[in-house]
Amino acid sequence: MKKLIQTSLSLILTVYCSAEILKKPTSYSSDLYKEIILNGSYDPSIDHPNEFLDFNYGERVASPEQIENAINTYKQQSNKIKVLNYAVSHEGRPLHALIISSPENIAQIDGIKENLSSLSDARITNDREAKKIIDSLPAIAWMAYSIHGNETSGSDAALGLIYHLIASNDSEVENLLDNMIIIVDPVMNPDGRSRFTKSLEQFRGTAPNYDDQSLIHTGDWPYGRTNHYYFDLNRDWIYLTQPETQGRVSLINEWKPQILVDAHEMGAQDTFMTGPAREPINKNMDRDLVKWGNVFAQDQGSEFDRRNWRFYTGEWHEDLYPGYSFYVNFRGTLGILYEQSRMAEDGVRRPEGTIQSYKESVHHQFISSLTNLNTLSVNSKAMYNDYWEARKLNVSKESDWANQTFVILPTKNSSRINTLADKLKSQNIEIYTNKQNINVKNVLKQTGDIVEEFNIPAGSMIIPNRQPEAPLISAILEFDAEIDEDVLKKEREATLRDGSSIMYDTTAFNFTMMYGLEAVTVPEYVKGNLSLWEPSSVEIDVDEKAIMWIVDGTDDLSVTFAARLMEQGVQVRIVDKDISLSGKSLSRGSPVVIAMDNPKNSKLVQLVKNTAEDLNVSVSSLYTGFGPEELPDWGGRHFRLLNKPQIAILSHEGFSSYDVGVSWWSLDHHLGIRHSQLNTSMIGYADLRRYNTLIMPSGYRSLNQAEMSVLKDWIKQGGTLIANNGSTRMLVSDNSISSIKDISDSFENSHDYNIKLQREFLSKNTSIDLDYVNNSKITSDISYPWEETENRIDSDTLKKRDKWQSLFMPSGAFVSGRIDDKHWLTFGTIDTLPLLYSNFPVLMAGSGSKAVIRVGELINDTNQDIYKTINWSDIPAGNDLNIRMSGLVWPEASARIANSAYLTQERYGKGQIILFSGEPNFRGSSLGTNRLWLNSVVYGSGLGTSSRITL
Ligand SMILES: [Zn+2]
Repeated sequence: MKKLIQTSLSLILTVYCSAEILKKPTSYSSDLYKEIILNGSYDPSIDHPNEFLDFNYGERVASPEQIENAINTYKQQSNKIKVLNYAVSHEGRPLHALIISSPENIAQIDGIKENLSSLSDARITNDREAKKIIDSLPAIAWMAYSIHGNETSGSDAALGLIYHLIASNDSEVENLLDNMIIIVDPVMNPDGRSRFTKSLEQFRGTAPNYDDQSLIHTGDWPYGRTNHYYFDLNRDWIYLTQPETQGRVSLINEWKPQILVDAHEMGAQDTFMTGPAREPINKNMDRDLVKWGNVFAQDQGSEFDRRNWRFYTGEWHEDLYPGYSFYVNFRGTLGILYEQSRMAEDGVRRPEGTIQSYKESVHHQFISSLTNLNTLSVNSKAMYNDYWEARKLNVSKESDWANQTFVILPTKNSSRINTLADKLKSQNIEIYTNKQNINVKNVLKQTGDIVEEFNIPAGSMIIPNRQPEAPLISAILEFDAEIDEDVLKKEREATLRDGSSIMYDTTAFNFTMMYGLEAVTVPEYVKGNLSLWEPSSVEIDVDEKAIMWIVDGTDDLSVTFAARLMEQGVQVRIVDKDISLSGKSLSRGSPVVIAMDNPKNSKLVQLVKNTAEDLNVSVSSLYTGFGPEELPDWGGRHFRLLNKPQIAILSHEGFSSYDVGVSWWSLDHHLGIRHSQLNTSMIGYADLRRYNTLIMPSGYRSLNQAEMSVLKDWIKQGGTLIANNGSTRMLVSDNSISSIKDISDSFENSHDYNIKLQREFLSKNTSIDLDYVNNSKITSDISYPWEETENRIDSDTLKKRDKWQSLFMPSGAFVSGRIDDKHWLTFGTIDTLPLLYSNFPVLMAGSGSKAVIRVGELINDTNQDIYKTINWSDIPAGNDLNIRMSGLVWPEASARIANSAYLTQERYGKGQIILFSGEPNFRGSSLGTNRLWLNSVVYGSGLGTSSRITL
C-alpha cells in the first residue's frame, strides 16, 4: 500500500516537473528487464525491500542508509536473523554481519562456535571427537558484497537475499536455514558506496543513460571504489590497517566459514566471472579448495546456462597475493569470487547493440548467491571432512611447513614490532620469544644468503610453523613466494610480445620486509625454552628535575612524539648521532626536549609526560649534557633544532587517489597532527606561505610553467617539497627544478654519476698506508677508480641497453636498499632496507644532491678481484651487489636499477627537494619505507633547510 502511494506521488511530481522545468524521457530503464528477482511466496509480516527504497527493488542503487533501515527493521520482524555490528567506518557508518538461520540454530550460536574452534585445532581434538562435531555442525557460509563501493550490484543483491531467506515460505529455503548458518555482510564498504551513491544523484539527468563513459557510470575523483582514506579494502585482508577489515577479519576468523563469497564488479563491457583462480596460485593454499571451487563453479555455470546468461571462469583471475579476501583460502575456507560487469544504474549498451540492465546485474549476483548456498548444503559434510584432514596436517610433522620457523630479530623499534605482533595475533598465529640464545643451522637471510651457523639472539620473536594456521603463516612470512617455471615463461613471453603481464598484483608482500624488520627463516622446528611473546614494557620517566627528556630514535613513535610536541608549541631538538648520556644509550635520531630551550613554557613537563602517555612510548630523563669521550654533548652541533612542520598535501584530479589517501592516512594514523589537503588547481594563486612542507603524492599531472615558478619560489624561500613516484618523474623530467635525472636522460654524464658513486664507496672503506701518505716526493702511483675497470661502456650502448632493460621492470618486488647511515632521513631504519619496487623512475643523483638510499646491498666477495661494471656504475674489487630480495625481478631490471637512487635530498635556495622514486607508504603497510617518509615530513623543515629566525 505504502508503495502505491509512493508511486502516485512520484507520478504527480514527474508530471509537474516535466511541464514546468524538465522534459519527460522517451523511455525508462525500468522497461529493460522484466524478470522479477524476488518472485517467491513470502511471509507478509516481513517488509518487502521496496518499503525501504524510493524505487523498485533492483532497478537502482540502494544507499547504505536504505540498506541499514531494512536491516534494523528485519531484526525486529524476524527471529531468523541476528545482527552483529562488527565495525564503524571512518565516516561513522556501522558495518553489519547478519547471522541468518533457523531460530533453533541461532539459539545455539555459542555452542556452534565452540565446536568450530575445536575442529580447527587438531592438537586438542581427536578423530572421534571431530567426527561427532562434523555430524552436528550446520554448514556455514559467509556472503560478502561490494567491498569496492562503486561495484554496487552486490549489495543490492544482498538486500534481496536477506529478505528472501527470512521471508520465504518455500520449504527449500526453510530446509536451507535448518541446516545452515548464512552470514551476510551486505555492505563491506559503506563510505565508498555512500560517496558513489551521492555521485549517482549528482550526475543523474532525466533520461536513462547507457553510455559507460558518462559520469553517472564512472563517478569522479577519488571514485567510489575505496574507503574514506582511499584504501582498497580488498588488498587489506592481511595487513589489517582499516577498521572495516579489522572488524571483519576478527569475526570471520571466529566463525571459520566453509565458503566466503566476495561479490565484485568489473569492466562494463565484460560479462560475469567466477570460479577458482588460474596460476600463479600461492603454493601455501589448500589444493582441496581448488577442487571444491570447481564444484561450486560448475553448479553456478549450469544455472547461468539455464537462464541464458553469459559467464566465464579463470582468465585474469590469479591468486599469488594473499591479501585479498582469499586470505581465507589459507585458513581452510573456500573463497569464491564474483565479478559482474559493472553498470552503475540504468544499464550499459554493448557493441552488439543490446543493453544489459542494472537490474539484471543484481539478478546475476542474487542467483549466484542462492546457487552457491545450495551447493554448500549438498557438500558441507564432505568439505568439513577435508577441512579436518587439512587441520590435522597443519600441526603434524609431515606437512610442508612443519620444519620451518620464522624469527624476527630483536629491535629497539618497539612500536613497530608490537604492530606486527598485533597483526599476527589477529590471525590466531601463536608467537613466542626466547630468553636465551639458540644455536641453529643453515638459516635463510632476507637477502637469500644461507648462514651455516646462526645464533638466535635472546628476545627474538619466534614463530615455529607447526601450528593450526601454518599455511597462512608461510604465505605472509616466507621471504619469497614460489612461482612456477611455467608461469615465469608465460610472464616473460607476455612482457616481450607486448609489454603486458600476467601478474595481477604485487609479487612480494611478506610482513618482515614490508615492515623493515630483520628476520631469518630457520629450516627446523624450533621448540623448547620458548615463552609466549609479550610486548616490551614502556617506561615513562619524566622527572621535572631533569634538564632534558628523550625518546629513543629507533622507535617510530619518536617521530610522533616530536611532531605532537612541536604542534603544542614545544621546541624540540634531535640528536643526529648515537649518544650516551646519564648512563643511557640512545640511537641517532632521538628527539629531545631541553628545558632551557623552552624557558617560558610553564606546562613543559606536563606536556612531555602527557604526550608520552598518550602514545605509550618510553621516555628517559637526563641530568647531564656531557657525553663521555667523543660522544656528543648537549651544546654541540649534534643536538639540532627542529622546526614545526606546516603541512599541505597536493591532491585531486591527476594524482593517484591511493597515494594521496595513504599519505593523508599516514599523517592521521601515525602522527595525528594538523595538515591541509589542497586542490592542486589552486597552486597558482594559493598563499603557500602558510606551509613549510608540501607533499606531492604520486601523480600524472604536469604543473604548467606558472605553477612551477610559484613552487620554485616557495622552495627557494625555505620550503620542503616531498614527491613520490609519478610526481618525482614529472619533477625530474622538467629539468629546471631538480638536479636529479631519470636514467634515460643521464647517459651523456654517466662518468660523473659513477664518480659520485665511487666517492661514496671509498668514503666507507678507507685504509691508510703511512709510508704512502707521508712520502715527500711526488708519486705517479695514484689510483683512479674509473681506470680500474676494464670495460667502459659508451653512452650509445648504455642507451640501447637501457631501452631493452626497461621492458623488464618489476611490478611489485622487494629489492635491497643501501642506506646512508649518516643522513637524517634514515633515522630508525635498518642498514639493508627492503624497498618495494615497481616501474618507478630510476633516479640518478649527481653532485649537489644526496643519494640517501641506493638500490643494492654491497657484499664482500673475495672472488671478485677486479672492478665489475654494471651499465654506468662500477662495483669495487672484492665486492658484489645484491639486488633482488623477494618477488619477480628479471636480471635485466636488476642491472638497470643497480646503484640508482631510491631516495634523494637536495638543497634548492634556502629550501630542499626530497624525491622518492617509489611510493613509500604503500597500502599503509610498508612501515620500513614509511619511516623515511615520516622523517622527511616531520624533520625535513628543521634539518634540511636554512633555519628561520623570527625577529
Ligand atoms: Zn572489485
